[in-house]
Amino acid sequence: MTTDTLFARIVRGEIPAQIVYQDDEVTAFRDIHPAAPVHVLIVPNRVIPTLNDASAEDEVLLGKLFLTAQRLARELGIDQSGYRVVMNTNADAGQSVAHIHLHLLGGRRLTWPPG
Ligand code: AMP
Repeated sequence: MTTDTLFARIVRGEIPAQIVYQDDEVTAFRDIHPAAPVHVLIVPNRVIPTLNDASAEDEVLLGKLFLTAQRLARELGIDQSGYRVVMNTNADAGQSVAHIHLHLLGGRRLTWPPG
């Protein structure tokens, strides 16, 4: 499994990013093309290419991605106004980086369903 995804390079500090949180397991940084006033990507430091590749061993890590989104939503002031957490998988969903990531979006009224 490759460890050299774009996001792995951000995790390792090899590519600059606006990191808003990092620990031994997850990294969160601002999306370079924000689709909302708050648009943060939350990634596991270890590469899992798509959600299809996750296994039972990743259960706690996947939960941590969501709890990190919850905490950042609070810290960034969108927990009460509302926010969306999305993980795209493969081509039809528009996944463009093969390293799973949660999008945390908020700060404006989001439409539903997504396009
Ligand atoms: P997805 O389409 O779900 O794979 O999302 C990938 C996201 O990564 C897109 O929203 C891009 O704008 C974002 N992105 C691509 N390159 C960078 C980068 N260098 N730093 C931050 N975000 C990026």
